[in-house]
Amino acid sequence: MKVIMKKKMVKMKMKKDKNLIEAYQKMADLTLPKCKKCPCPLSCCSPEYCEITIKHAAETWGIQLERTKHPTLPLMGENGCTAQPHLRPICTVHNCKINALGFDPDMKWTEEYFDLRDKIETLEYEKKTCFS
Ligand code: SF4
Ligand code: SF4
Repeated sequence: MKVIMKKKMVKMKMKKDKNLIEAYQKMADLTLPKCKKCPCPLSCCSPEYCEITIKHAAETWGIQLERTKHPTLPLMGENGCTAQPHLRPICTVHNCKINALGFDPDMKWTEEYFDLRDKIETLEYEKKTCFS
């Protein structure tokens, strides 16, 4: 009986993780077009965020991220950040207008952003509490 319960729990955890990974990917896809119009691309990146990401990936997902040869940003590769969106949560949800104003003038986009952010926060909460 215990084995069946454990198997069910593992399966449920895998499904929740999959949902969380997908939600972060959607957030990365949603914010990318905004960043493509950025006058100072990647000026939001900072070494300490890379360090937080390296620690978070190891502690939460059991993934050891490799450092790149970038002179200042340990996770910056030739084609952008080398960490998957769910491994760098603070970077993935970051958007300059949301950060500065709390919204983007495109209200449909803003609504989608906050719906997705709510979903991510709920899934993160469940990951930290229900399956720890
Ligand atoms: S988050 Fe802001 S600074 Fe960073 S790339 Fe996007 S628009 Fe540019
Ligand atoms: S997006 Fe990647 S390279 Fe930029 S600060 Fe975050 S972890 Fe570092």
